[in-house]
Amino acid sequence: MRSVNPCTGELIQKYPFHSNEEASAIILKTGDAWMKWKSTDFQLRSRLMKRSANILRAEKEALAQLMTLEMGKIIAEAKAEIEKCAWVCEFYAEHAEAFLADELVETNASKSFVSFEPIGTVLAVMPWNFPFWQVFRFAAPALMAGNAAVLKHASNVPGCALAIEDIFVKAGFPEHLFRTLMISASQVESVIMNQHVKAVTLTGSEAAGMSVASIAGRALKKTVLELGGSDPYIVLEDADIDTCVSTAVNSRMINNGQSCIAAKRFIVVESRLDEFENKKTKIMSTLKAGDPFLATTQIGPLARGDLRDELHEQVKSSLQSGARLLLGGKFIPGPGYFYEPTIISDVKVGMSIYHEETFGPVSAIIPVKNTEEAIIVANNSDFGLGGSLWTNDLIRGEKLARQIESGAVFVNGMTVSDPRLPFGGIKRSGYGRELSHFGIREFTNIKSIWIA
Ligand code: NAP
Repeated sequence: MRSVNPCTGELIQKYPFHSNEEASAIILKTGDAWMKWKSTDFQLRSRLMKRSANILRAEKEALAQLMTLEMGKIIAEAKAEIEKCAWVCEFYAEHAEAFLADELVETNASKSFVSFEPIGTVLAVMPWNFPFWQVFRFAAPALMAGNAAVLKHASNVPGCALAIEDIFVKAGFPEHLFRTLMISASQVESVIMNQHVKAVTLTGSEAAGMSVASIAGRALKKTVLELGGSDPYIVLEDADIDTCVSTAVNSRMINNGQSCIAAKRFIVVESRLDEFENKKTKIMSTLKAGDPFLATTQIGPLARGDLRDELHEQVKSSLQSGARLLLGGKFIPGPGYFYEPTIISDVKVGMSIYHEETFGPVSAIIPVKNTEEAIIVANNSDFGLGGSLWTNDLIRGEKLARQIESGAVFVNGMTVSDPRLPFGGIKRSGYGRELSHFGIREFTNIKSIWIA
């Protein structure tokens, strides 16, 4: 496994892979650790999870630097990501017991209730874009629910993968309860087939989701899939345009444009189109690309060279199909995988950036005549992860939010993940939920107990 600095293209470090046999031996130990862990009380679990939060905060600088080095996000965002991981640990340390408390149900029994019981070792296949957050938002509820976990992290963030395992060890969780498997994507099948692995969660691309879900289907194991998105960002005629534009820039550019819930399709009514295009182009053209370790940098590199090539193909093919380039559209010269902040307007059905997810600093503007057309365009997507809608009429905003086919809609705000709210998608964005009380119940046995 290789860690490469996306800012320079230079090799940072090589890590050895685990063989299938080594991975099986780890999974066996994880299963043994679970046998004791499953009957621990919430007090102990909470104490250890709070310690994980403390360790994250204490080691924030070093962990953030590791992330920035391996995948190129700007350092301030890396630090914020570590803070958010500490938050999710504290959130579940505090609320897991209530989320998983028995639910009494009145039936003809003297007592009947639902209990939420752990299921065993869960495999987490995770992406590189939020290397800590994606793992912690799965691991904190999974461990609090009494499960064990093995992590297969993305191949380009092996240092982060090992650092996460280390945090749980330092926090005092039982040895082997949470383990990182240093394996390739092709080895995932043998892990899913392992009898000691009870379920799988995957965050990543549609292709990876389809592959993992079909293998898990053959093994009859539950999956949760958090896949890609092409979130609509709808600008209506009564939007507060200045806030709307500055939020549009943040929402597209966070993590160098590599977020599943970034705004990707800007659906703008004709009466606000010129204003939106001009103001957005003005802000985007001032963003400073460069070394993500510098506090003055606003855009870092993309995480890998092949991802930049893919993005550029999408841009080129959409322009060839008649879209209008407002800004950018090229590689930034020099070492590293930098791409110019790019805005493309007059995006129409049939163009690649109308239909596909763009994972980088590229905004597709789709002009529409009115609100009705905006909703039709928003829903004309294979994806359904998040979405954002801008109007000064909050009652109308709420009504329209219900009409958008996605796992979340934010009115007058950008879509974000928050431990208190369920997170996940519909359509080709996946299924199942993470976070909130919905997330912690995904990997539990929801069991009915009936006493005559
Ligand atoms: P990816 O290529 O699908 O990789 C994600 C993980 O899946 C990596 O660990 C990868 O391992 C593994 N993987 C890939 N193909 C696999 C296969 N056939 N079988 C088993 N495992 C496989 O995705 P990515 O490029 O890292 O991440 C970007 C994608 O993730 C985007 O589409 C983004 O929208 C989505 N995402 C979704 C969410 C969400 O919550 N919905 C959050 C973040 C990202 P290797 O690295 O070894 O290939």
